[in-house]
Amino acid sequence: MNRKLSLLFSVSEAAPFIKEGGLGDVAGALPRALEARGHDVRVVLPRYYAIDPHRHGLKLLPGSLVVPMGIIGDLYCGVYEGRLPGSDVPVYFLEHEAFYGREGVYGSGNEGFRDNDNRFVFLSRATLELCRMLEFTPDLIHAHDWHTAAVPLFMNTIYRHDQYVGKAASILSIHNMQHQGNFYPGLMDVLGIGWEHFTFLGLEQENQTCLLKGGLYHATKLSTVSQGYAREIQSPEFGWGLEGVLRERSGDLVGIFNGVDYDEWNPESDPFIPAPYSAEDLSGKAICKLELQRRFGLPQRADLPLFGIISRLVEQKGTDVLAAAIHQILALDVQLVLLGSGEPWAHFYFGDIAAQYPEKFGCHIGFSNPLAHLIEAGSDFFLMPSAFEPCGLNQLYSLRYGTVPVVRAVGGLNDSVENFNERTLGGTGFTFHSLTPAALFDTIGWAAWTWHHNEAGMKALISNGMAKRFTWESAAEKYEQLYYWAIEKKLGEGFRTRFPEE
Ligand code: ADP
Repeated sequence: MNRKLSLLFSVSEAAPFIKEGGLGDVAGALPRALEARGHDVRVVLPRYYAIDPHRHGLKLLPGSLVVPMGIIGDLYCGVYEGRLPGSDVPVYFLEHEAFYGREGVYGSGNEGFRDNDNRFVFLSRATLELCRMLEFTPDLIHAHDWHTAAVPLFMNTIYRHDQYVGKAASILSIHNMQHQGNFYPGLMDVLGIGWEHFTFLGLEQENQTCLLKGGLYHATKLSTVSQGYAREIQSPEFGWGLEGVLRERSGDLVGIFNGVDYDEWNPESDPFIPAPYSAEDLSGKAICKLELQRRFGLPQRADLPLFGIISRLVEQKGTDVLAAAIHQILALDVQLVLLGSGEPWAHFYFGDIAAQYPEKFGCHIGFSNPLAHLIEAGSDFFLMPSAFEPCGLNQLYSLRYGTVPVVRAVGGLNDSVENFNERTLGGTGFTFHSLTPAALFDTIGWAAWTWHHNEAGMKALISNGMAKRFTWESAAEKYEQLYYWAIEKKLGEGFRTRFPEE
């Protein structure tokens, strides 16, 4: 079936307007890919302070939106309209000074904002009021993470018989299970859906109001960003307390792998690297390696394997495991460069290691997109020892750049990197299972040995990886299928009326 659908994305970030992580990439790229498949797609998100209406050519729509906030009463907001660059996808920005007129998206420093409950309940409720204002009747509303998890909840309760959204199906996508939107019980009165929903099989989780839990119960269908993560979050190790709900709803849960923007991440045309290269001619990669060593003040040695890391320096990314293994790793004939920022202890720790091993380890604490591109191009291997990884992007960039990933076999890493097979020369990287310094060290040792002693193996790994593609076109096709399933489930017999030819 290929019928035109009306779709609305309700989301807390979307590139290029505002991006804090992988969610922003998805919300920036997927609507465009869906539009290219003929659907009417729109996006709603807050007009954060950092989004400059002039710079993005946003237009203020006439009138204002009334957003009922339960016990708080009615709040009002303006609505700006813009377009996702390179498309006709309308993006609606909610203008509310008290909620969004400040620096930061989710918080400042490592602290979340104290009014995040109201800020995102507001976004969720305003999403539905916006449909009324625009007289827009979506077939489906796509919510993302806990921030808009209240959308399906509202749709099943307050808006159940609404003229515009009452018949719409909903999807809730999980991009990171760790963050669930847990707040004080009284948030129920702001939601205004009734305390009968404050039960273990509703929104209650350890005597708090858990927005994600509500969304997981109420969305027509659920998705997450890899098949591996879809399985993992049904277990206690990765479900963060909500594994039971996910097991209960496993029949409605699918994993759809994110795509990569190959216009931005392409070694043949990357403006941030000193020499372009391709799978057919890798000579430019050697130049990138020398430049990378120079930038990090390391000896420019072509005879050592160079490992790269670009990461948030937090526990999720295995930063503590790397820290525990690093002396052992640096005893090998290798070099290592690290770009990242995160927990303060890690800044000091790795800075100190760089001072101890000036010939072998380079470290840049901070965020730099140009340097990230150079690391992808100039490294021989890329390290991702993640504790959990819903999808992961850097291993995908690495494959495209002929930089062999060394990853823990979890979530999206396990779905996208195939372990090297020395006998068949199959595989695209090196994987390990146990989240321990010993397992990480052993695998790096195997990779370094391969680099030094198995030329045919390295060549195979590089060319196997460079041939892989993870596109948004393919992801959009899978989401489209999921949307049809959700709409069919929601409408039941009415589906035949909506799509008579099918
Ligand atoms: P997550 O979203 O969990 O941080 P992903 O691998 O999905 O992890 O995406 C991380 C993205 O952020 C990648 O595009 C990566 O290159 C980029 N990134 C992370 N840290 C830095 C940094 N310090 N400098 C530049 N880019 C970074």
